[in-house]
Amino acid sequence: MTQVTIVGAGPGSADLITLRGARALAAARVVLHDALIDPALREMAPQAEWIDVGKRGFCDSTAQARINALLVQHARAGGPVVRLKGGDPSVFGRLDEELEALAAAGIPCEVVPGVTAAIAAAADLKRPLTRRGTGRSVALSTAMTRAGELVATRGADTEVFYMAGRQLAALSRRLLGAGWPPATPVAVVSRAGWPDQHGSDHRVDTLPEAVVLHGGRPTVVIVGIGATALASTTTPTIESIALPALPADSKP
Ligand code: SAH
Repeated sequence: MTQVTIVGAGPGSADLITLRGARALAAARVVLHDALIDPALREMAPQAEWIDVGKRGFCDSTAQARINALLVQHARAGGPVVRLKGGDPSVFGRLDEELEALAAAGIPCEVVPGVTAAIAAAADLKRPLTRRGTGRSVALSTAMTRAGELVATRGADTEVFYMAGRQLAALSRRLLGAGWPPATPVAVVSRAGWPDQHGSDHRVDTLPEAVVLHGGRPTVVIVGIGATALASTTTPTIESIALPALPADSKP
C-alpha cells in the first residue's frame, strides 16, 4: 500500500493542482509542504497536519537531509503522508533524493505530476513552447550549477531557464557566449500561474533590464522560438477556414 504520495502542487494558484493530487490531499494524515504553496491548498486537506519544510533559513544540504528524515519518520508513524512540492516534482525538485530515502527505508510511494513553471509561463503568455515547423525542441535548464556557477546553453529551439531571476545580466552574457544572436527574443515571466503573474519581452542583449521588473520573484526565462510573440496577422482567421456546413436543424 502506498504510504507516501509525492504530489506536484503546480506553480501557483491552488486550482492548478491535478484531481489526483487533490484526492491524495483529501486522504492525507500529514502534509509536508514546500514554502511557496498557495495557502488555499489547505482547504483540500483540513483534516491533515500541515508541516512547512521549506528550505528558507536552512543550509541547503542540511535542509534536504532533514526533509528526507521527516518523510521517513511520518510514514513510519502511519500514513497516508503527502509530500507537496511546487510545480512538478520531477523538475528541479530533488525528487531523486526523496525517492532514494524512501526506498532505503522500504517505504512504498507514488508520484503525482504537476504543472511546471515553464508550462504555466507559456500559458500565461499565450505563447506555445513548440511551433510547427520552427520550434521542434524545448529544454528546461537550471542556470545555476551545483557549484553555484551560472551556465547557459543553446541546445534547443526554445530554452527555458529556471533559477536565474537574480542573475539576468550574467545570464545575458552567457547566452551571447553560447551563440544566441543578440536580437533573439527572450520572455521573462515571474509568479507564473498566480493572479499577480507578470511577463515582459526582451532580447538576449537587453535581458539585464528585466531585473527591475521581476526582482525578488520566482522567475523563468524563455529564450528562442517559444518567446516569440504570435504573428496574429499570419494566423488564419476562423472565417477564412473552410468548414463543412452545419446540419440544418443544429442549434447554435
Ligand atoms: N519543481 C518546480 C521548480 C522548482 S525550482 C517546477 O516544476 O516549477 C525553483 C525555480 O522554479 C525558481 O527559482 C523559478 O525559476 C521557478 N519557478 C517556480 N515557481 C515559479 C513561478 N510561479 N513562476 C515562475 N518561475 C517559477
